[in-house]
Amino acid sequence: MIIIKCPYCGDRDHSEFSYGSDASIVYPSLDAPEKDWVEAVFFRENIKGIQRETWQHSNGCRMWLEVERSTITHEIKSVKPCHTQLQKVFEK
Ligand SMILES: [Zn+2]
Repeated sequence: MIIIKCPYCGDRDHSEFSYGSDASIVYPSLDAPEKDWVEAVFFRENIKGIQRETWQHSNGCRMWLEVERSTITHEIKSVKPCHTQLQKVFEK
């Protein structure tokens, strides 16, 4: 069982969340060459270790979160809102 600590709702089972994507991807500009978009959309690193991911608390507050998760142990290292203005609200 994976527990994700939503900044708004607290500790919740991962089944309440929906995986979004790899949070480290920087998408190209709209006028970038097609090969840049193919690279950004279809090719991913298969990281063994800590990976930054986006998750949505879809069965809760619906907030988008950036989660650092170990791909080896599934341990959650950190959770913060994706939206930068919300990051300031939930900073300790
Ligand atoms: Zn939540």
